[in-house]
Order: sequence, then C-alpha cells, then structure tokens
Amino acid sequence: MEQLNQVLLRDDVRVGADLGAWLAHGGGEGLTKALRDPLAILAVIEQAGLRGMGGAGFATHRKWAPVAAAAAGEKYIICNGNEDEPGTFKDRYLLEHTPHQVIEGALIAAAATRANHVVLYVNPHQPLSLNMARQAVQQWRVHAQFAELERLVGGTISLDVIPSSGLYIGGEETAVIASVEGGFPFPRRKPPYPAEHGVHGSPTIVNNTETMAHVPGILRHGAQWYRSLGIGNAAGTKLYSLSGDVLRPGLYELPMGTSLETLVFEHGGGMLQGKEFKAVFTGGPSNTLLTKRDLDVALDFDSVRQRRSRLGTGAMIVVSEGTSIVRKVAEYVSFFAQGSCGQCPPCKGGTFQLMRLLSRIDTGRGVRADLEALENLCRILPGSGRCGLIDGAVTVVESSLQQFRGEYEALLIA
Ligand code: SF4
Repeated sequence: MEQLNQVLLRDDVRVGADLGAWLAHGGGEGLTKALRDPLAILAVIEQAGLRGMGGAGFATHRKWAPVAAAAAGEKYIICNGNEDEPGTFKDRYLLEHTPHQVIEGALIAAAATRANHVVLYVNPHQPLSLNMARQAVQQWRVHAQFAELERLVGGTISLDVIPSSGLYIGGEETAVIASVEGGFPFPRRKPPYPAEHGVHGSPTIVNNTETMAHVPGILRHGAQWYRSLGIGNAAGTKLYSLSGDVLRPGLYELPMGTSLETLVFEHGGGMLQGKEFKAVFTGGPSNTLLTKRDLDVALDFDSVRQRRSRLGTGAMIVVSEGTSIVRKVAEYVSFFAQGSCGQCPPCKGGTFQLMRLLSRIDTGRGVRADLEALENLCRILPGSGRCGLIDGAVTVVESSLQQFRGEYEALLIA
C-alpha cells in the first residue's frame, strides 16, 4: 500500500471496530476541536477545499451550510456507504478497517449543523462493513464525546446503521433518502434538494463515506495541512480503486492531482504481461473514457473535467490493447439496464435498447443500421430520466463511439 501522504489508509488507523485503539492514535481530536468551537467547523471545511468523493465533487461546505442555517428541529446526516458500481471498493475498505474515522466525520457534521439524527447507510452485500459499522456505533453511543455532542445539539441524537438497498441506483442521494424513510429507493427529481427537503421533509445531508472519513483529519490538523497534501491547486488526498489489466490492482491513497500515468505505471506497476495501455473507464463505468493521450491528466475533479470526463468515485478500470472496448461497454450498459428502477420509460426502454444493439454488434450480428440506431439513442436519451443513470449509460457508449469507432465498424457484417 502506498505510504506517501496517507491520511485514510495509515496502518495505525486500521483498528477495526476498537474505539479505544482509534482514540489512542489521535482519533477523537478532530471532534474535540469541533465541539470546542462548532461555529468554526464550516469555515475550516471550506478553507480545506474538501469535495464530495462519491461522484460529482460538489464542495462539502456548500452541502452543509444550508442545513446549519436551517431552523432548529429534526435534521439528518447520512453517510452513504451503498457503493455498488463496478470497480469501486473504497468505502467498503474504510468501513471494514477504520469505521470510527467515518463515524467521527459524521459526528463533526452533526456538530456543525446541530443535526439530531446520524445514519450510516451501509451495503448489506458487504456483511463485514455492516458488522464493523454496527460494533463501532455501539461504542460511540456510550462515549463521553457523544454525550457532549448531545448537549451541544440540545437533545438526544440517534446514531444508527441502516442496511442500504444494495441496488446501484440506491446510492443516488434522493434514493438514499427514500430508502432511509423505509420505502423503495426510487430517485426523484431535484429541486427540492435534500438540504431543504430530505428525510421526512427535514434538512438532510447525504455525504459519501470517503468524504466523511476526511473530516476528522481536517479538524484535527487544520485546513492548510489538508490543502498541502494535494498537488497544485488540488486539495487533500483521494482514494483510487485501481483494477483491470494492471500488475498491482488495489486501493491507493494518493495526493489529489497525481497524474493518471503515475497511478497506473508507478503505483499500479504498469500493464499486465507487458501489454499496451489502451484506455481507462474512470470514476466507474459511467464517464467519458480516458485514453493514451490523457495519461498526463492530473487526477483531480477540475483537471479531469477539462478532458470532458469525471473523476467520480476514483474508480479506475484499466484496459489494454487487445481488449474489446465494444464488449466492455456492452457489459457496463447491461449493468445499467439491470439497475434501472423503471420509473422513467426512456431509461428502462433506452438502456435495454442500447444493451440489445451493443450485444448484436459485439457478437458479430450487427449491421450499419444498428450503429446508426446506437448513435441516435445517444442523441435523444440524455436528460430524459429523473436521475443520472441514463446519462451515464449514454456517456460511456457515446465516448467509446467517438474514440474507438473503428472497433465498432470492424465488427459489422453489413
Ligand atoms: Fe430510475 Fe432510470 Fe429514471 Fe433514474 S433515470 S429514476 S434509474 S428509471
């Protein structure tokens, strides 16, 4: 495991569910500072430049501020550990190895916003994560700092672990809210945003597990310390789930702004069996593919966006020359088609049509009209759903068509 600038994956914080061990290694100090000066928390998070690590990279303090400003009453902090997309395994690692870091971050969020409900929303398909989170929560409930937090908030705080739906779409924040309320995780359109109308209509923050895990260190060591961990203008560190055709797949914590080439060739050990690098499905399979000419891109939210892709969750699925892009895309679109919740007919029907066309082409049964139909769907489907699933499916198809059109054409029979 890479040691440089490690914050989340340090050996001494891999203490499992033992709260005493977490506190013995500096855990709890961030929460102590937060409780001492709760009005300063938001400014520290803003100055640190912390952004959401689950997908969009939205500034964390901007999610927290409206909930902090809302009138006293029921408020919810949800730590989203639903993580279910191909190639992403960072939240699972955090919950299994350092759940107190995650919970402390959520409690600091509660201190900043005076929230009286804290929920860890954990994927039940990862039983060890669920078990660790449950054990860890029990210890926090009887800890002195928790009682101090309740005094600050002015009443009892519920601290619970709720098994998530385990469905891919269940990780979308409005779907998380529906699920925490006890319903099926149907996403809904925004606005209203969760900060205004979340769980049972109350102000709610939904943050990714990795985002929460960064918070204790920021409070403990300060905003400037966190900023200094990144490269250039990028702040902090980022977890990368590296998989695919690399020599050393695994979870890496690296300075935000590390280049794609450094991640793949230095830390990942380069390509398997000396094969040529071809492309990366970045941030999970729902973004624009990065190719050889993007190896120099700095892996931070803004630099990756300038290449018309997204850093997303930090998942990096590497493929080598000789791997069929068409087949990979067909597999991922099949995942999306199965994950569609069916509320929006264009999504349910559109992802199925994309899957059918890709399968025809991939298996050598496709004709030029299929390719044209694929391109037509990429034109008409974006924006037709309540959530981003359909747009993600289209993006990966469109991107592969733009960059590897020759592979599609070579498979056509007429
Ligand atoms: Fe469900 Fe798809 Fe509509 Fe999202 S876009 S709400 S997944 S049907």
